[in-house]
Amino acid sequence: MKRICMIILCFVLCLCSCSDVYRYTSTEFYSMTTFVNVISDGDGNFDNVENYAKDFENRISRTKSDSEIARLNKDGSAVLSEDTLSILKKSLEIAVNTDGAFNPCLGTLSELWDITSGKEYVPDKGEIETALKNTSYEEVKIEGNKVTLPKGMKIDLGGVAKGYALQKMVEIESSEKDANVCVSIGGNVGVRGSSKANRENNKEGWNVGITTPFDKNELSGTLTLTKGFVSVSGAYERFFEKDGKVYHHIFDSKTGYPAQSDIASAAVINNDGLEGDALSTALFVMGSTKAIEFYKENKYNFDMILVLDDGDILITKGIKDKFTVNSSAKGIKSDIKVID
Ligand code: AMP
Ligand code: MG
Repeated sequence: MKRICMIILCFVLCLCSCSDVYRYTSTEFYSMTTFVNVISDGDGNFDNVENYAKDFENRISRTKSDSEIARLNKDGSAVLSEDTLSILKKSLEIAVNTDGAFNPCLGTLSELWDITSGKEYVPDKGEIETALKNTSYEEVKIEGNKVTLPKGMKIDLGGVAKGYALQKMVEIESSEKDANVCVSIGGNVGVRGSSKANRENNKEGWNVGITTPFDKNELSGTLTLTKGFVSVSGAYERFFEKDGKVYHHIFDSKTGYPAQSDIASAAVINNDGLEGDALSTALFVMGSTKAIEFYKENKYNFDMILVLDDGDILITKGIKDKFTVNSSAKGIKSDIKVID
């Protein structure tokens, strides 16, 4: 499994320092089909964070047969725990607000494509049309804690689960110990406080590297943040290539195919892990013109960095001073365009 540059950068900035005044420790474990990395100056015991991630995955994963979501998908109806229900409700609300660019009801489609299985299967038009009939998020019924899906629909919370868990893990690690923390999982990073290296240099914050979509070993730039979440979605994360075409894991719920847009990667920077995760997926599907319109509608409080296929970088004004572009990275242009 590949690890993203963000993890490496956090590590490098923490471990390459000489003094031991600031005692940071770290851990890494596997959860939600990716590596979770935690760095903190807390007490060095990461059991609570790790247990949270594992319990959460057991509840939410569509592929773990005992999970709440797998039961709901199998039976078409289930009583959910408060927490799982609130994640589903929030996801459905984001589906409405993004006009389906983010859609948590794409389970049947995700299953059909099964992008990460290694099968490299491209479904035919008929199969896609049938799967698409089962993705109408407006038709999910919620009465109290009981959720009922229309026949054939399956829920897939893969677009929000990591972001939600990320926020919980940062909260567990920081609030219990008042610690400086950086957690990364898949394309998402959450921070609070400052890294060891920055503190030793009398600087604040964590330097979070954003992987360029054009080369997984390079960064398109670095963000310095003292608090918040960075969620990145891109076609380069999970995909297969067949007959010269790339098929990736983020679907356009209007076509049923992997989304085709002018965005190579979309990063959302905000203070809500679930929202950031969902919105990065949604922006990627929208493409840059709609993504900018959506940003200007102010439905959600967030900043974004869009790296376009042609190497242009669009960045919203709220974070322009916190981002340093890496213009030497392959395919990246140095003149950043700022969106007001
Ligand atoms: P992310 O990597 O956060 O962009 O999320 C991608 C994951 O979310 C995929 O692996 C699917 O499980 C799921 N997904 C794919 N397309 C969508 C979409 N348009 N809306 C919501 N979830 C999606
Ligand atoms: Mg996402």
